[in-house]
Amino acid sequence: MRSAIKRILNPETPLQSRLFQLLSTIALAEFVLVSAYTVVAGGDAVHISIMLIGTALFSTTVALTFKTGKMRAGSAISSLLYFLMYPLTFFSSGGMYGGAPVVFAFALVYVYLVTQGWERAACLAACIIGSGVCYIVSCRFPELLDRHTVTAEHIESFLSILLVTLLLCSLFAFVTGVYRAENRIVQKQKKEIEALNQAQKRFFSSMSHEIRTPVNAIIGLNEMTLREEISDEVRQNAQNIEAAGRSLLHTVNEILDMSRLETGRMELMPGDYETVSMLSDIAGMTWSRAQEKGLEYEIEADPELPSKLRGDEARIKQILLNVLTNAIKYTKAGSVKLTVSGRTDEAGRFYLICDVADTGIGIREENIPRLFTAFQRIDEKENRAIEGTGLGLAIVKQLLDIMEGTVCVTSTYGKGSAFHIEIPQEVADGKPIGEVNLKRTGKGNPSAPSSAGSLSSLKILAVDDTPMNLTVIKKLLRDTGAAVDTASGGAEALKMTVETRYDVILMDHQMPEMDGIECLHQIRTQENGKNRGSKIVCLTANAGLEMEKLYRQEGFDGFLSKPVRGKALENEIERLTGDWKKS
Ligand code: ADP
Repeated sequence: MRSAIKRILNPETPLQSRLFQLLSTIALAEFVLVSAYTVVAGGDAVHISIMLIGTALFSTTVALTFKTGKMRAGSAISSLLYFLMYPLTFFSSGGMYGGAPVVFAFALVYVYLVTQGWERAACLAACIIGSGVCYIVSCRFPELLDRHTVTAEHIESFLSILLVTLLLCSLFAFVTGVYRAENRIVQKQKKEIEALNQAQKRFFSSMSHEIRTPVNAIIGLNEMTLREEISDEVRQNAQNIEAAGRSLLHTVNEILDMSRLETGRMELMPGDYETVSMLSDIAGMTWSRAQEKGLEYEIEADPELPSKLRGDEARIKQILLNVLTNAIKYTKAGSVKLTVSGRTDEAGRFYLICDVADTGIGIREENIPRLFTAFQRIDEKENRAIEGTGLGLAIVKQLLDIMEGTVCVTSTYGKGSAFHIEIPQEVADGKPIGEVNLKRTGKGNPSAPSSAGSLSSLKILAVDDTPMNLTVIKKLLRDTGAAVDTASGGAEALKMTVETRYDVILMDHQMPEMDGIECLHQIRTQENGKNRGSKIVCLTANAGLEMEKLYRQEGFDGFLSKPVRGKALENEIERLTGDWKKS
């Protein structure tokens, strides 16, 4: 009995077994009750023996079912056994005048709930036909009915009602119990998923931070090597180190973006931007790669395109760069072409249309639906020499989804592919861009030595708890002529900002004891502070547009993410100090 109750209450047991156990226990209680009553009411020996044998057979079947685990067969056999005893109880307990009709109803519920599949249909049919036959026989031959006394019939009727009440209450308690247990499990799982999401978020951002910090040192110091007079071999090695570092960063950024997109944490940052400037940035970032491979590369912009658009420029660039770098990556010879145009729909919504066509390896038709699935690379064997994570197009698709844009691909295997992208944008200035030449608009060599002495009038303070980062900043600014002091943490920086006035403070974010944001606030409100109005730039390994938004909200004047290039560092300092205007 104890194990039966345990099994009924155990949420790990399959629902069908629990129901079978519950209803069989009630049926057994009924058999015991009816047998006891038959003995007390002075029933004949044959009747009592059949009742006892039936009860024994039924309980043995139930026990064997649990022992062997053959639930389907066991429940069908016990249903039939239960039903076989029905005619006997029907005729011996006064037929429709006694408790038989209620027992019949219970039999049907039992069969329906414990059996499955075709056994259920067969057993239900047998029960209904068998009961019908009992009713017909008792109607045609009433003398076959063993009519009891009026008192006995009342007792039987009362016992039957007790049985049905017990059945209904048990079923109700069971269903409520199952519902509550399921609810508890769902709530627990919800909490676990939330905790997992948080842990994943923490993991990705700390992973990105931890990787960026050493890569900052590698790329920064490598840039110094590239600025020196070095042999061709050393230059080539340094350039390879640079490419490997950038590729590592690109992968980290992709993983970070994918995690943000999958957990719904990717936020768009719309703003006005110049269409031509956005396109020339794209050209600058892709031109040299196409040239290195000897490809014909063309960017054509419709002269009618509006000169200023409103949208998330950085994400649009990311989408186009992913598709264009793929086109260049997967094209051995021939051409890559980006055509940019626009259209306005009936509702007056403007769409930026970008078509990227290449004469590359192409994609088999059956593989096109898999292109946008994360971590899926197509023809992995053939393309193993080409670097990639299989994340680029998944990011493109998800970014387009949140921007309400679309992408479609047509490709001929072995001949080339064409990506058609449409992104809704607001028009900020409808003046047409006119004819523009987007050839060779590259930003120049980012490792080029800085203009000597360009920042010579400036005093700069760099705050970072990693000594290597301070070395890198000092070296990157060495040729600019700026006087660079360093502080290894917030407390030291606060001491220095009382004594010296700096034009620009380059501040790390994550530092022990006092982080960069707190240090910024203290400098801004410092008593006797000489740097309340200084320009403070967050120079951090925390990448991402949300972080940039946070830093700007906190009051930083600028933001640079590590690893930083010498040129970008100089440009940001010049922007903030207005030195470029003087020169
Ligand atoms: P990967 O980092 O592998 O390039 P993507 O998500 O950017 O990942 O692309 C997924 C796969 O789609 C690639 O592995 C490649 O097989 C295929 N692919 C993408 N763009 C092109 C293209 N222009 N030509 C041929 N195959 C492409």
